[in-house]
Amino acid sequence: MPNQVRVRYAPSPTGDPHVGNIRTALFSWLYARHTGGQFIVRIEDTDVSRTVEGALESILGALEWLALDWDEGPRVGGNYGPYVQSERLHLYQDIAEKLVAEDKAYYCYCTSERLKLMREDQTQRKQPPGYDRTCRDLPTTEEQIPHVIRFKFPVDGETSFNDLIRGEVKFSNHTVDDFVMLKSDGYPTYHLANVVDDHLMDITHVLRAEEWLSSTPKHVKIYDALGYDPPLFAHLPLILGPDRSKLSKRHGEVSVLQYRDMGYLPEAMFNFLALLGWSLDDHTELMSISELIENFSIERIGKAGAIFSLEKLTWMNGTYIRQMTSSDLSKRIKSILDTTLPDKTIRAISLDYINAITPLIHERLKTMSEVTELVDFFFLDIPSYPPEGLIQKGMDQEQTLHALETTLEQLSSIPSWNAEDLENVLRPLAEELQIKTGQLFGSIRLAVTGKKATPPLFETMEVLGEYICKKRINTTIDSLQ
Ligand code: GLU
Repeated sequence: MPNQVRVRYAPSPTGDPHVGNIRTALFSWLYARHTGGQFIVRIEDTDVSRTVEGALESILGALEWLALDWDEGPRVGGNYGPYVQSERLHLYQDIAEKLVAEDKAYYCYCTSERLKLMREDQTQRKQPPGYDRTCRDLPTTEEQIPHVIRFKFPVDGETSFNDLIRGEVKFSNHTVDDFVMLKSDGYPTYHLANVVDDHLMDITHVLRAEEWLSSTPKHVKIYDALGYDPPLFAHLPLILGPDRSKLSKRHGEVSVLQYRDMGYLPEAMFNFLALLGWSLDDHTELMSISELIENFSIERIGKAGAIFSLEKLTWMNGTYIRQMTSSDLSKRIKSILDTTLPDKTIRAISLDYINAITPLIHERLKTMSEVTELVDFFFLDIPSYPPEGLIQKGMDQEQTLHALETTLEQLSSIPSWNAEDLENVLRPLAEELQIKTGQLFGSIRLAVTGKKATPPLFETMEVLGEYICKKRINTTIDSLQ
């Protein structure tokens, strides 16, 4: 075994990158970075019927979003691509045939109809499912009969291995059947390809989800049969929903990319995923990527299922946003507005203008997807006049009209257009008009922004500027007459 730690992330392109799956990638990456070892990505695409178009791109997109880079692989342009099993079929075929020649595996000629009948019979007799070993002792024929290659799994005894998280794990051999290693189409099954590649790629530690634990005795026996040293195994705890059942669509979004699209920050997602089953101690939550690299260890991965709490992720995300500098946040806001606002805006989506808006929303932002809705009125005309909800509770159209007309008059003598002067002029006005400040400010807010809830009114008016504010109040007045 090499001295250096070598870990891999081995996804199958069968769907969206599930948070559990990316958590495996992230733990493996952290372990490689912590130990100064190597992280490898290997696409396990040998189950052609389960391959989903676009899934590979999504998985790579998730790795890219979280900046989980890998250290080797076939060259693609100037970069490393991932290893891809469907491009290495001959390796698995040769090894399967070698095991047949050594009598450690055999050709199975059973047709799918026969296997179906066998399964039905087993169900009827309430027997555990599994291949009945019909072909195990048949001589191998030279004739070209379609066949699979099955592994000769021992009938009696136990298979045990050490799991770095769970300690010794034992399986009775009679619970495992003579599983298929090579299918009739020449593709290997997961078990064969996984073992062969982990060996050929010198993998030292296999970190993978708990659901693979029951496959491990099969792998251990294949390693034995081939005379390879097995890697060390660490089966990561399940990820659960808040009701403690296995995390699924029922609990909400499970694709990491969905969180990216909902406006979560990669740093927050990274931190959050790192704590799904691993902890530094019993209280530390916020950790930067470098702190995680420094402290990550397999010893502190737990056995118990880890709960995925959206509330916690959202809290973390808000915290990361607040920790960002205003200018960094402005840049991110700009890139969102560039793609979400319509082409025609009344103000350019410039960084200078956004720099003025950012402080108004910085503290209250929980996810980046809220940005457009919060600030669009800085860039777009208000779609209809009078804006919906303009007339405040306890006021009528006439009072609203009067309040806005007086506001406009007062604003003509404002010393300068800044939040402080705006407040100094407008706050006393409510009393003069014998209405509540909430009613006056609510009317002005609706007139200048078209919304009921916005960042603080006077700062908003300052940034919007005198011309736009007065124009919008005027248009609202017109619509009320
Ligand atoms: N291809 C398997 C998966 O999709 C890999 C399991 C393993 O890491 O061994 O999760």
